Amino acid sequence: EREALTAYRDMEPRRADGTVIEVAANIGSLEEIDAAREAGAMGVGLFRTELLFMRHMHLPSEDMQAETYAALAQAFAPHPVIVRTLDIGGDKPIAGVEFPQEENPFLGWRGIRMCLDRPDIFKRQLRALLRAAVHGNIKVMLPMVSELDEVRRTRALIEECKGELATEGKSHADFPLGVMVETPAAVFIARELAKEVAFFSIGTNDLTQYVMAADRLNPVVAGLNHVENPAVMGAIEMTARAGVEAGIMVGMCGEAAGRPDLIPAFIRMGLTELSMSPASIQRAKKCIAEMSAG
Ligand code: PEP
Ligand code: MG
Repeated sequence: EREALTAYRDMEPRRADGTVIEVAANIGSLEEIDAAREAGAMGVGLFRTELLFMRHMHLPSEDMQAETYAALAQAFAPHPVIVRTLDIGGDKPIAGVEFPQEENPFLGWRGIRMCLDRPDIFKRQLRALLRAAVHGNIKVMLPMVSELDEVRRTRALIEECKGELATEGKSHADFPLGVMVETPAAVFIARELAKEVAFFSIGTNDLTQYVMAADRLNPVVAGLNHVENPAVMGAIEMTARAGVEAGIMVGMCGEAAGRPDLIPAFIRMGLTELSMSPASIQRAKKCIAEMSAG
């Protein structure tokens, strides 16, 4: 079975109409690049930057971040790598940030919320990404978005960063900015969001817990935490429709993106990018190929 799957490693799976479906990898460090490439990843659909921040006793410098993002982009060029801006909260604290004591960290100060409140940390990451974008195909996405204003404020910070880098004579390039759709709020404003961003990436891990109001870490309610629940599938479909109608790319980077039993439904909804752990890539390619053939 393994050998049969290897046959799919280097293929670019297409939808019946010929559109290429990007099957990309979810990774969290440069050490995972080789495994992702060997598995046949067509780029990175989710680079989790948390590890970069959690590994050290202090916040990572702009230079160190720029080098990391550039190395990542170079490894996968010309394929895109989608870097997610820092998605951290009280449940996973990092050195250099004081987190408040919260009753419900999953409903609290995390992701884009924390970043917008700490422009010192956020701008350092955005500046590093603008500098790294010179070296490859970098896209950037924001986690935990629930209001349009969060996108607009981020854009304003990016403009500030570009101005600073220009003044300092540091080379930089623009990147497409997208959002993760992982809160019900983002689903409900998907049509408005789609007018202001370059792409959506559906984060089914969080979207499921928030749509079902069931903590993803709490085994007592694990029975509710299933993507195939019609409420969650409906939210995914609404998001896909909004994105397709606006003409932007809609992808998925939650665990569900690698599930052969669900991939056909996602493709039919209009998703053109699926990002998953490297171990699932060949099986996903096979599933898409068989769907188009049959
Ligand atoms: C998600 O929420 O689906 C996701 C991909 O991000 P994370 O699992 O890192 O929250
Ligand atoms: Mg998430």
